[in-house]
Amino acid sequence: MRLPIYMDHAATTPCDPRVVEAMLPYFTEKFGNPGSRNHAFGWEAEEGVETARRQVADLLGADRKEIVFTSGATESNNIAIKGAAYMYARAGAGQSGRGHIISCAIEHKAVLDPCKRLAKEGFEVTFLDPGADGVITRAMVEGAMRPDTILVSLMWANNEIGTINEVPEIGALCHEREVVFHTDATQWAGKMPVDVDADNIDLLSMSGHKIYGPKGVGVLYVRRRKPRVRLQALVDGGGQERNFRSGTLNVTGIVGMGKACEIARAEMDADRERLLKLRKKLEDRVTAALDVVQINGHAEKRLPHLTNISFGFVEGEGLMMACKDIAMSSGSACTSASLEPSYVLKGLGVGDELAHSSLRLSLGRWTTDEEVEFAGAKIIEGVTKLRKLSPLYDMHKEGIDISKIEWAAH
Ligand code: PMP
Repeated sequence: MRLPIYMDHAATTPCDPRVVEAMLPYFTEKFGNPGSRNHAFGWEAEEGVETARRQVADLLGADRKEIVFTSGATESNNIAIKGAAYMYARAGAGQSGRGHIISCAIEHKAVLDPCKRLAKEGFEVTFLDPGADGVITRAMVEGAMRPDTILVSLMWANNEIGTINEVPEIGALCHEREVVFHTDATQWAGKMPVDVDADNIDLLSMSGHKIYGPKGVGVLYVRRRKPRVRLQALVDGGGQERNFRSGTLNVTGIVGMGKACEIARAEMDADRERLLKLRKKLEDRVTAALDVVQINGHAEKRLPHLTNISFGFVEGEGLMMACKDIAMSSGSACTSASLEPSYVLKGLGVGDELAHSSLRLSLGRWTTDEEVEFAGAKIIEGVTKLRKLSPLYDMHKEGIDISKIEWAAH
């Protein structure tokens, strides 16, 4: 076993060697521009892109023509959200001026920030608060719907806590109300099954580097029929990708994305089952050995390969130091000047202290049983050691309710 072990697959995944192999010829031999329509180099590159388009479409249950290649999920989200808002904006209609959008407070920044920009431009955005379990339900969206709602954008699975929203049900609601439905499926697609028709999705974002493909390539699925979704382009230029995304295609990246989707489709079921067992083993191990431990997010409606655990009575930085042989994420986001507790955990009602002492572990295609054993033992050892230094933990053990203590101010 090589240290440090990698348990941060929700941040990024290694490229599958089969993906790299598929990409290699497109750097040197098949280097043409797929836009070059009048010679063999162009046709060859175009063939690579079109094969990838089919591979992605097959993973999503979509038509090839509905796949738009982008630079990643951030760009896909921007095109989907701003592109739909500008296209379906209502001139002065409704309460909100330009139209009402529904999203959620614990979305990725690549959804929150485009929504916030639209709010500044005269749209009105409702950011739903998830309950303590982190799940957005159809009923919550229904409660927020208005006659002037034009767009709903909700992630399929959360990147920090792995919770799963009621996407097919929310999609059905949107279709009943003739509202465009976008889902950021970056953490879901390629790991869990997608059928854009059965799941009632109009727009879907995904990213290559979360599914064992390369970085800097992504996909936006855009529904073409029932209903045909229209978007205003954000970048103008050569008109590639049906005008949704001008610019010479990243052929190598796209070929890699396609191959990653093909492999995901074939191996997803086996991977899921194996990773769920490993994740459960890790969680069982840690919760059996330690008290004052909390697994964040809904108990069942969670991704099989991801867990987010908070540990009471330990200091977050100390915990990361004690576990430096495990590459994972903490419940703190490093901003330029300070450590901010994660807004996702805060959104669930987790306190600042506990958010800081939270760990996100995300397992992947090559995570082994041995690595899970090792990570479990390291975390238990680290937490136990830190708690030995904690007077508050001693008081807790003696049965004193820490929250009721009135600390003297000097
Ligand atoms: N959405 C979610 C849910 C994500 O987890 C990420 C990656 N952290 C992104 C969007 C952004 O993806 P990309 O890096 O491809 O721009």
